[in-house]
Amino acid sequence: MPALNPRVFDQEPGDKRRIGLEWTCPKNGARCWAPFKSWPIREPKWEWDGNRETPTVKPSINCGGCCHFTLTKGKVVIASDSEFKPSA
Ligand SMILES: [Zn+2]
Repeated sequence: MPALNPRVFDQEPGDKRRIGLEWTCPKNGARCWAPFKSWPIREPKWEWDGNRETPTVKPSINCGGCCHFTLTKGKVVIASDSEFKPSA
């Protein structure tokens, strides 16, 4: 199973609020993402520690019910209840 390869991304460079986390969905290979707190309007939102290289994002991320994981200091841990268990 492919790795999630999560990374911090800017949706619109120039608008610092529109930032989030993207990863590769282990179910279908699509690009999935979660917006950070600064994102205007969208809910839910995740907390980010501001670190781009080794990000910490809270709370855990449930990718459409297919993959449940945490990201702490850049390290992915797949939750035990995750349907898909990609290599972290
Ligand atoms: Zn997914």
